[in-house]
Amino acid sequence: MRHSGLIVASVLEHLRENIKAGISTLDVEEMALQYLNGHYDDIKPAFLGYMGFPASICVSINDEIVHGIPSKTRFIKKGDIVSVDFGVVYNGYCGDAAISVIVGKGSPEAEKLVRVTEEALHEGIRMATVGNRLYDVSHAIQSHVESNGFSVVRDFVGHGIGRSVHESPQVPNYGSPGSGILLKDGLTIAIEPMVNCGNHKIKILKDGWTAVTSDGSLSAHFEHTIAVTNKGTFILTEPR
Ligand code: MG
Repeated sequence: MRHSGLIVASVLEHLRENIKAGISTLDVEEMALQYLNGHYDDIKPAFLGYMGFPASICVSINDEIVHGIPSKTRFIKKGDIVSVDFGVVYNGYCGDAAISVIVGKGSPEAEKLVRVTEEALHEGIRMATVGNRLYDVSHAIQSHVESNGFSVVRDFVGHGIGRSVHESPQVPNYGSPGSGILLKDGLTIAIEPMVNCGNHKIKILKDGWTAVTSDGSLSAHFEHTIAVTNKGTFILTEPR
């Protein structure tokens, strides 16, 4: 799974360096596939065709939370928050991660949202240790987000991951500490806070996929696949 995770990380780093104003979200998809196919053999993007999803990356801008479909008519602008979610299957094992990047400089609100969302992911990972409970992770994320005046999306959650990209357990970004399953050696999960500036409610657009904030507020998304082990917790989708 670390091999799969490294591949995901390298594609996302490539996108982080190359997403810029003026390109379309379909250009981002093509950049991801070109990089993937230019550097690796036999890698299957995990999302292409998943429940009918028509692309290899999800790209979601500003008030779009997750699951945006790459489009040749959707152009990225200066100051946009661009969230990209990408996963692969390599040798039968999956990796899944997401980043949010601001194109150039964002508004103070956008800059804070992106920073707090990434911090919340790491607050969650810090609690993902053998002997803790699952919702200790959820609670850490929720506390960090809410203490900064934002809200966590409830309609989508993180997930177990392994041979399939989505496995049990569900990993919510909210919950009561000390509850949920006991975290054991060998558990692999994807933790993925989705954070809104306004309230936590969502709407799905007519394309059947794109989730947006119901109040039109900005949203950000970060995700890592991690392994909880007796030797410590490893971020499998961390760049080398
Ligand atoms: Mg995921």
